[in-house]
Amino acid sequence: MRDFAYLVSGVCFILALKGLSSPRTARYGNLVGAAGAVLAVIVVFTTKGLDHILPILLAVAAGTAVGAVVARRVQMTAIPQLVAIFNGVGGGAAALVALLELASTDDGLPLAAAIFSLIVGSVSFSGSGVTFAKLQELMTGRPVIFPGGPFVFGGTLAIAIGFGIVVFVGDGQGTAASAAAVAVVLVSLVVGVLFVLPVGGADVPIVISLLNAFTGLAVAASGYVLGNTLLIVAGTLVGASGTLLTRMMAAAMGRPITNILFGAFTARGPAGAAAGGEARPVRSVGPEDVAILLGYARKVVVVPGYGLAVAQAQHTVRELADLLAARGVVVSYGIHPVAGRMPGHMNVLLAEASVPYDQLVEMDDINPELPYTDVALVVGANDVVNPAAKTSPGSPIYGMPIIEVGQAGAVVFLKRSMRPGFAGIENELMYDPKTMLLFGDAKESLAKVVAAVKAL
Ligand code: NDP
Repeated sequence: MRDFAYLVSGVCFILALKGLSSPRTARYGNLVGAAGAVLAVIVVFTTKGLDHILPILLAVAAGTAVGAVVARRVQMTAIPQLVAIFNGVGGGAAALVALLELASTDDGLPLAAAIFSLIVGSVSFSGSGVTFAKLQELMTGRPVIFPGGPFVFGGTLAIAIGFGIVVFVGDGQGTAASAAAVAVVLVSLVVGVLFVLPVGGADVPIVISLLNAFTGLAVAASGYVLGNTLLIVAGTLVGASGTLLTRMMAAAMGRPITNILFGAFTARGPAGAAAGGEARPVRSVGPEDVAILLGYARKVVVVPGYGLAVAQAQHTVRELADLLAARGVVVSYGIHPVAGRMPGHMNVLLAEASVPYDQLVEMDDINPELPYTDVALVVGANDVVNPAAKTSPGSPIYGMPIIEVGQAGAVVFLKRSMRPGFAGIENELMYDPKTMLLFGDAKESLAKVVAAVKAL
């Protein structure tokens, strides 16, 4: 019975991943995954003959309460931090389980799996903590590097593995092995910190995905130690999907994963146009000018970015698109795979405003349409439309495919200032004669444009 219930849970997790692969089915995927997890917890409670039920129930209640409140209150833009914390806690839990099970674990492969879980779970825990601090701006988002960093990192990892070998040789039993196991955890925590410190802010979500894969592997190893099939299945799914997501995000940014992780050690300073140079003239316009441009266009492409999420302007942008469509303007949205701060960020936001899915056009499909587009309306996006990705070798985003809004007849940027995007580099397109800037919070600017279009 227990194995059958675990099988059902495992199938739920697989269906959840399938559901999460498309915005249309993501909500269903989430629910199916949660149902699988609830079923797994019920099985543990009903079949394991657990001791200490009361403290366990209290811990479950506390975790559920904190998780539910935090998840409901969190801003969409802070989801990566939340994922980082959840992920770190998972890695830490896997390491704790392994630590407690060491003495009763069989020698050989199970013991090796427990030590693997100790190291990887601890790295994931502390690494996720640093990613949280970076994204929450509790510390600098810039890469933190120091002379000999790669050697210190490599040396510390070697020490963690060395203590792991001591545990293995001591069969995980006795005072020496126990002390070595605690040392494995402590040194691995340092490894996790050293692993994430050199990663720059814009790359942190990719590292979160990688640490997520680490947590999956640690959980799978803990499952092997405990002889729990479902933990092995769930951990492997997380490990595999986290690895694939990491690769896809790196590919969408046009960067090898090694460059993301260790690029700061070899960087020779920000090549290309760094932001903060001398002021150059730009064409600043008012909402009425933008309304005329849009209202009399034949085809408009909206390119949303991180600023749309910050401003929570998804409903207002949809209102504008509906108004324009009613005037006979063809409107679509060009979605860059890494616009915003997490994969699928723009899809989620626009789905929240019930933008029809057929208006959401992927980057590769929208680019050929841009030369036939009258106006590209860039709402809080910057890096994902920055031509430096094509023209400035050495710039942090060089090689990243972009939405080529410069091909459109006119470009309108909605942003608050001349500050750069996440990559911290100037966008030459802002100074192009065909570009107009409407300064202000995206939601407020869009509301003014909506009012002006209505008045046309
Ligand atoms: P960017 O961070 O490049 O630019 C966002 C722009 O929005 C800024 O220029 C900012 O300008 C503007 N902005 C911020 N708040 C507001 C507001 N309230 N109203 C109007 N404008 C606002 O975002 P993109 O989406 O173009 O690019 C995403 C970046 O994040 C890329 O560098 C990508 O590599 C990176 N990234 C994305 C991941 C993902 O999975 N999506 C993962 C990892 C990294 P101003 O301050 O002047 O208003």
